[in-house]
Amino acid sequence: IKGQYGVYFAAYDDKLRDELLRQQAIIDSMETALEEGQFLVWLQPKYRICDETMAGAEALVRWNHPEWGFQSPAEFIPLFEKNGFITKLDQFVWDKTCFYLRKWDEEGYPPVPVSVNVSRADIYHADIADIMMRTVSKYGLTPSRLHLEITESAYTEDPGQIIETVGHLRELGFIIEMDDFGSGYSSLNMLNQMPIDILKLDMKFIQSETAKPTDQGVLQFIMELARRMHLRVVAEGVETKKQLDRLSETGCDYVQGYYFAKPMPVGDFERLMRDQGSQ
Ligand code: C2E
Ligand code: CA
Ligand code: CA
Ligand code: CA
Repeated sequence: IKGQYGVYFAAYDDKLRDELLRQQAIIDSMETALEEGQFLVWLQPKYRICDETMAGAEALVRWNHPEWGFQSPAEFIPLFEKNGFITKLDQFVWDKTCFYLRKWDEEGYPPVPVSVNVSRADIYHADIADIMMRTVSKYGLTPSRLHLEITESAYTEDPGQIIETVGHLRELGFIIEMDDFGSGYSSLNMLNQMPIDILKLDMKFIQSETAKPTDQGVLQFIMELARRMHLRVVAEGVETKKQLDRLSETGCDYVQGYYFAKPMPVGDFERLMRDQGSQ
């Protein structure tokens, strides 16, 4: 028995060691990656449910490493949130996003808003309002062109501070989206005090394999709550027509997901705007 466990632990140690080495390699490469332009901003369009026209996009970072190829944000973002590099990377993404918004304005594209992800570290450890204002001003944009997606779990860390900081951003004119809404952290009484404009429904609400009749009831409840609170609702992770129909029945405002389009390079997004038109 002892021998068996020994083998088990040895295999486990190997796996753990590989993972730690890989994490270290990521951390050793991040600064160079930023300097050398390996981080890219990709865009995933959002659509209005009512007429299926494009209503904007979400900026999602991609890391194209010269040897490793495309790396998943689901792996490197949590590491960068731990070591603080996320603040630098996010500022890069916000800057690039504003750069493109300005470029599109100059080239006559419709003035769609784009949302950027704001990590909790950005809120709690940086002068985010100052940085955001400087970024939009640099490109002559009004703050309302940027939507800020802040994950629901960030709201519970220090509700007092987030109400103050995010409230200030909202007063400045930025549109605030609560990302991953319903993933388990926010309580309904808190929602009422939170400075937000849009609820971004967590994917699990529409992706649950076993769509029970009561799931539709939950969706309807959320939409009704949002309506009473004057919040708009975006559903993400929409992959099928059936899911779209379920959302449409409940009066959800916007959708984002593979059913319509995957995240894509900026050039492809520009082509999409030209082909489909928007607004
Ligand atoms: P998120 O903000 O919740 O973004 C949604 C994720 O779902 C994205 O994954 C997107 O590509 C994916 N997705 C979109 N439509 C569908 C669909 O129909 N089905 C499924 N299964 N997935 C879909 P991605 O790009 O891999 O990003 C993962 C997470 O990494 C993001 O989750 C966000 O938390 C974080 N992230 C990505 N870019 C940034 C960034 O620039 N800054 C920060 N702070 N975090 C970022
Ligand atoms: Ca997001
Ligand atoms: Ca999300
Ligand atoms: Ca997320």
